[in-house]
Amino acid sequence: MICPFCGSSQNKVVDKRGVNGSGEIRRRRECLKCSKRFTTYEKVANLELMVVKRDGHQELFCRDKIKNGLIKALRKRPGSEQVDELVSKIERKLRKKGAKQVTSKLIGQMVLAELKKLDIVAYLRFVSVYREFKDSRDFAKEIQSLN
Ligand SMILES: [Zn+2]
Repeated sequence: MICPFCGSSQNKVVDKRGVNGSGEIRRRRECLKCSKRFTTYEKVANLELMVVKRDGHQELFCRDKIKNGLIKALRKRPGSEQVDELVSKIERKLRKKGAKQVTSKLIGQMVLAELKKLDIVAYLRFVSVYREFKDSRDFAKEIQSLN
């Protein structure tokens, strides 16, 4: 990290780091040479992860895809402001696995597991799209399996 005032690379972190909604880490730093303070924002590079779709097709992992699914499921529900947090949680779990490939099925299951804990209505919305429910009997079966 280079000081924007004098160009020195010697600095220290002067306050606690904070993480904002999009997962950026904020650090307040002080230059050891000129003593001026500046703020840095660090973001972990996008996950280099391939997602294997049901048809065997692969695509690069995309945070926004999970996010859009969650936004739809949580529309007008109490947990709707937790979408970013949920996506980050799922991304962290995927990163922890350290795998280069995951199936879209696994990601779907992780999303379902999180929604189930958070909000059962959102869970049912998501699962109905995910498992392509045809009619109310599918919902009834799913609700029964929850009890
Ligand atoms: Zn400096």
